[in-house]
Amino acid sequence: MKYKSVLCTAPFVSVVITPERALRPCCKYSGDLGDLSKQTITEILASDVVKDLQKDMYDNKWPDRAGPVGNCEECRLAEKIHSRSIRTAYIPGGTSYFNDWRNGKIRIIEISSSNICNLSCAGCSTRFSSGWLKYAKVIEKNTDTEFYRDIIHESPIINPNNDLLIKNLSELDLTHLNRVNIKGGEPLMNTDMLVALRYFDEINILHKLEIHMDTSGAVIIDKTINETIALLCKAKRIIFGLSVDGPDEVTTYIRYSPKNMASLDNIRNFISVFEKNNITFMVSPTIMVYNIFSLDRLVEWWLYDITPSFNHLDLDIYLFNFLIGPDYLSLQALQPATISRLIDHYNNIVETKEYGHWFSHLPDALENIEYSGNKLHNQMVKYTLDMDKIKGQSIYKSIPELTNEMCYL
Ligand code: SF4
Repeated sequence: MKYKSVLCTAPFVSVVITPERALRPCCKYSGDLGDLSKQTITEILASDVVKDLQKDMYDNKWPDRAGPVGNCEECRLAEKIHSRSIRTAYIPGGTSYFNDWRNGKIRIIEISSSNICNLSCAGCSTRFSSGWLKYAKVIEKNTDTEFYRDIIHESPIINPNNDLLIKNLSELDLTHLNRVNIKGGEPLMNTDMLVALRYFDEINILHKLEIHMDTSGAVIIDKTINETIALLCKAKRIIFGLSVDGPDEVTTYIRYSPKNMASLDNIRNFISVFEKNNITFMVSPTIMVYNIFSLDRLVEWWLYDITPSFNHLDLDIYLFNFLIGPDYLSLQALQPATISRLIDHYNNIVETKEYGHWFSHLPDALENIEYSGNKLHNQMVKYTLDMDKIKGQSIYKSIPELTNEMCYL
């Protein structure tokens, strides 16, 4: 039988457990498929909500159950900037595509089951970081701050629930599982991470799994690390996606903590803990208004400082992760003249630097950035100045290249 193409295979092969204990098909999907505190995971996967979403995918229809904005808007918007999105990984040729996706076997599980985190990163929220809560509580409650209060929210701290995780995992047929993504919150502060690794080892599938862990690297290594490393080493492949966003003053501005936990020195120390193990470290900045000016300096740190020090490790760079939301920190908030200067800057990098190939896609991606207008620009200014006041930071000191943008239009 000849099958027609499908919009995305994620809803057939992948499940994400969110910090709210809801189920989603992928990390970019907006809207829940079910509530794990009220339904079993098996009930959710057999529900009409999942079947309707799968039908949309078969019909090549962008699902639209999230109100005016579709459920898959993040993928749709990412593809307007450049050719890659999470969706493109789930279609033929993509790294998350499985030829037999129609049999409905789970291939990828993402565990983001707690929001415990020690950072309060720009663009993040209390939904994914307990570190945000103390700042969320002191934001002035007026109409001018409503646009970012709605996003930062005041979600409670969600501690891991090891028993619930194991109950959910044990209901699933994991015989075809290939990959486990562990995100957060901060995975290394989430006891579910170790509990899940032990479980996969116990049921004898750990050796078949790729484990992808998105970590800030800005964590205090505790006494469980030896067991974590021993278990990780049993997996087929381990990839640490390091959330480092720029040179020191930029990444500590974005990945904020009062004690500068995200400093490049701390990241270096973090990598050294794992240096004897067969782990791929991929630096994967979230490209936004704060770090678009300094991605070349980040790459220089990675290539000329980290790589020679850890030359037996597998080190990689991923420069395709453009921030889509919150939109006031996306590149669409920058004025066209700034984007134009950035295009010149990165064209020059491509032509003159030996690492220029890492940036070959960037000038075209920047050409695709459409200025969203003064309202969004002004929201970027307002959010930035308000957060500087609340967190005790200075955009002018950390990211002087943004100074020209820091005025209301
Ligand atoms: S299109 Fe994107 S958001 Fe939608 S299910 Fe696929 S990967 Fe997830």
